Amino acid sequence: MLRKLYVTRKLPETIFNQLTKHFTVRYWDSEDIPVPRDVLIREIQHIDALYCLITDTIDDELLCYATNLKVISTLSVGFNHIDIESATNRGIVVTHTPGILTDTTADLTFALLMATARRIPEASETLRKQQWKSWSIFNLTGMDIHHATIGIVGFGEIGQAVAKRASGFDMNILYYSRSRKLEAEQTLGATYVTLNELLQSADYVVILTPYSKSTHNLIGEKELALMKNHAILINTARGGIVNEQALYEALKKGTIYAAGLDVYEQEPVSINHPLLTLPNIVTLPHIGSSTIATRLAMCQLAAQNTIEAFTDTPKNVVIL
Ligand code: NAP
Repeated sequence: MLRKLYVTRKLPETIFNQLTKHFTVRYWDSEDIPVPRDVLIREIQHIDALYCLITDTIDDELLCYATNLKVISTLSVGFNHIDIESATNRGIVVTHTPGILTDTTADLTFALLMATARRIPEASETLRKQQWKSWSIFNLTGMDIHHATIGIVGFGEIGQAVAKRASGFDMNILYYSRSRKLEAEQTLGATYVTLNELLQSADYVVILTPYSKSTHNLIGEKELALMKNHAILINTARGGIVNEQALYEALKKGTIYAAGLDVYEQEPVSINHPLLTLPNIVTLPHIGSSTIATRLAMCQLAAQNTIEAFTDTPKNVVIL
């Protein structure tokens, strides 16, 4: 008899068909609406494997019902939506999709940095609203990127890929991370500094740590106050690492110049969120890894992780 798998979103047909060779598959039949909690509670009681997304909260309360579950495979590199400790205590393996979305997310991070520095959405909007009256000296002036100092907080896969892009712009690269990366310091010409030094020196502060207890509100009022008045904050990691209330105050008072956000404490972010009333912010709807090729590769790797958990030594196991 085949093992039982529940998938919390509708997958591309080829990937779904691949999974059906190994599992009896049930799934939530929607491409864009997350599975309701009560459905997930009902389904998780009967399954050996769960294929989930970042929109699914896999907490201890839910895992109490998961008496047969052996593997949770998430279609993401981040895993803060899963209670890893609870899963581990129950003997459940958790896998994720690191590596394959690194360059795509680094591209988006750099695109957001550039869009914020050069006010690209605002400039485009100005033209469309017929507010472009003439070429004028200080019309829509922004900040230079080339030869500026970038400070990357969290120097893992994506952080280092952003540094690679920054070196092409002749930027001075600083980083702060949980552990030093001596090899990357050599190859990327990056300098390790303390978080305070980074905040005081960088023209661009880019957040790329995972979200965890240790990074919750890592950037709050005190940290934002250390930043330069012309500095720009970019967060493509997770909401909750930057305190949104403190960020709102800093942007409103002009103690920092601008921010670019792909992620929020609550997602989808409310259209009435105070941050969205500010002119000096560029906001994206969590699209860091969103290219066709990368999303297909993520779907494929998450499927492979699910299958391998029963047929091989599971790869891509989450390590805290
Ligand atoms: P990664 O390779 O694990 O890198 C994370 C880095 O953060 C590691 O170098 C880690 O240090 C460091 N770190 C962890 N806790 C820290 C702390 N308390 N203080 C300072 N540094 C800390 O992960 P990645 O692939 O680069 O991804 C980073 C994060 O980006 C993910 O966790 C995910 O949440 C987010 N992400 C967002 C999108 C999006 O769509 N916007 C897409 C992909 C990923 P060590 O090296 O010492 O472990």
